[in-house]
Amino acid sequence: MTERLQNFVDGAWRTSAAEQTLKVMNPASAQVLVEVPLSPADEVNQAAAAAERAFAGWRRTPVGDRIVPMFKLRELLVANREDLALSITNECGKTLAESRGEMQRAIENVETACGMPIMIQGTNNEDIAAGIDEHMIRQPLGVVAAITPFNFPGMIPFWFLPYAVAAGNCFILKPSERVPITSQKLFNLFQAAGFPPGVLQLVNGGREAVNAILDHPAIRAISFVGSTATARYIYSRAAANGKRAQCQGGAKNPVVVMPDADMEMTTRILADSAFGCAGQRCLAASVAISVGDARAPFTEQIVATAQSRKTGYGAAPGIEMGPVISAESKSRIEGLIAKGQSDGARVLVDGRNRKVDGYEDGYFVFPTVLDDVAPSAEAARTEIFGPVLSLMHANTIDEAIALVNDRSYGNMACIFTSDGANARRFRYEVNAGNVGVNVGVAAPMSSFPFSGWGESFFGDLHAQAHHAVEFYTQTKVVVERWPRDWNRKF
Ligand code: NAD
Repeated sequence: MTERLQNFVDGAWRTSAAEQTLKVMNPASAQVLVEVPLSPADEVNQAAAAAERAFAGWRRTPVGDRIVPMFKLRELLVANREDLALSITNECGKTLAESRGEMQRAIENVETACGMPIMIQGTNNEDIAAGIDEHMIRQPLGVVAAITPFNFPGMIPFWFLPYAVAAGNCFILKPSERVPITSQKLFNLFQAAGFPPGVLQLVNGGREAVNAILDHPAIRAISFVGSTATARYIYSRAAANGKRAQCQGGAKNPVVVMPDADMEMTTRILADSAFGCAGQRCLAASVAISVGDARAPFTEQIVATAQSRKTGYGAAPGIEMGPVISAESKSRIEGLIAKGQSDGARVLVDGRNRKVDGYEDGYFVFPTVLDDVAPSAEAARTEIFGPVLSLMHANTIDEAIALVNDRSYGNMACIFTSDGANARRFRYEVNAGNVGVNVGVAAPMSSFPFSGWGESFFGDLHAQAHHAVEFYTQTKVVVERWPRDWNRKF
């Protein structure tokens, strides 16, 4: 019988009463791994109530003690990294090397959050007026929640959870119902790390659970990562209910290749960006704009690199790219390639209708390169979220920057060049929250906020680092006078 996953509420595993469940598949084999309950609103309410009860004690726990289970968690994540990585590969499809890298980023966020005794410090002015002192202190909000996407089940919860919890909040995670297995493993580790009951809760589910989170009066802040349409919806409903919200959305990331770029390095890095994680990365390069003489060598090399990428089951030796998440996703991506073709693009490398030996039922789309993509075409503007790179060409850097800025998303933009002046100008002028210079996936490390502009982000404070600390705390300003002290002139 297929295993049915559980929720984790008030320090214990609970069987959901959900009538609806979803089958979770291994996208490489299309085999069913587990069933996930689509928890009803009532189970979100139970998690929120448990978190509310736990908050009274957790916020009074000194910050130095709150990070003790974080240190333990870090050790547990390191010790269990291989098991977690295999779980990510099996439910999400990426290669084992990519899954290991994902867990490394998760661990780094736990390490950064262990600096909470310093990060949560307030500020003060002694004698802001004669005999009056003023302090700004940071206090936790209470109960907070995160709703996460399918493409990084092991990392994205850690953009939020370590900061929220170390800052004294109690936390509810609603992972993607398409990849819920890694979260089960993570919650076993949270339990072993010694967080008190109610501090961390896991509620599996889909829309009903999300809406219950968005409407629950005790949940004070929402962190979301997913598609732009959902991000916009979540941001609006959370705000209408008076909650703080930070909502990271989709992307369509342009990369400019200058003629003076190191072409071998550029194509290698760009292929990893466009085809790594089968293009299912919010920081995947999806439009490459070659400038002037870069066109011929770049096109030739990216085509060769795309053709040679070894695609298959992510845990098999030598595999460089796994499947996409689902049959629907595969047919949507293949439909967008066909649309690109009918809009006038030339298909230089075609990843459609390809099979992997031994994994004939898997959801594989091989690397695809479209050339001469018009700026107005769907292949230039729509997030494909698959291993498809659209090529465009510009005569000058001015034209290239204009093409970069001609889009509603603003997650990432990159330039490959050996000219510092071009790089500086690009960094200065592009409308994107994360910028790469000779870097193909400009993912901020855990000690920097994960930025994002335009339709890629709704909110003001981003995930990770000091932005996360600000997001999960409210400031209180205290103005004090103690006139008895020295009986001076004030
Ligand atoms: P998605 O929007 O379909 O789902 C994300 C989460 O929202 C899931 O937990 C899901 O259960 C929930 N959800 C989906 N539709 C909902 C609805 N109508 N009402 C309430 N809840 C709903 O996203 P996905 O397909 O899981 O993830 C891929 C997307 O995430 C891509 O667009 C990608 O660019 C984006 N993403 C962005 C970032 C970033 O940092 N900006 C990072 C990773 C992924």
